[in-house]
Amino acid sequence: TERTFSIIKPDATKRNLTGKVNAVIEDAGLRIVAQRRIQMSQAQAEKFYEVHKERPFFGELVEFMTSAPVVVQVLEGDNAVAKYREVMGATNPEQAAEGTIRKLFALSVGENSVHGSDSLENAKIEIAQFFTDDQIV
Ligand code: ATP
Ligand code: MG
Repeated sequence: TERTFSIIKPDATKRNLTGKVNAVIEDAGLRIVAQRRIQMSQAQAEKFYEVHKERPFFGELVEFMTSAPVVVQVLEGDNAVAKYREVMGATNPEQAAEGTIRKLFALSVGENSVHGSDSLENAKIEIAQFFTDDQIV
């Protein structure tokens, strides 16, 4: 069993889709073992997406992620990192497979409803940015 880090992004929280996103997560066999709704600060968003800081969309991405509250989560299950990437679907919703969160809910490549860690190593780093061990049960 493995843990991954998830964010339900502002486009989804603004449209009141937290429960519907969580239903897809749970139906896929992933367990939500920590969850908190937060307003990300600019500094927090910049740090979280630091790997993308040279990309042309970085400013837009930080602005979007701080535009409304997000739900940060830890998901647990067999192969949780890869499984959640599959459940999320492609970054661009036009390329996302049927039944995936992004196919169902995403508005565009930027406003794509969810984040999921892309490796186990990054999952550990990202989880530690938002949760202490005792908050994950
Ligand atoms: P995430 O890291 O959020 O799980 P991802 O791993 O599928 O998504 P990345 O390449 O890591 O995609 O990009 C991080 C985020 O940056 C995307 O989810 C999206 O919100 C935004 N993004 C990526 N590419 C673009 C783009 N071409 N234009 C605008 N925003 C983009
Ligand atoms: Mg990514």
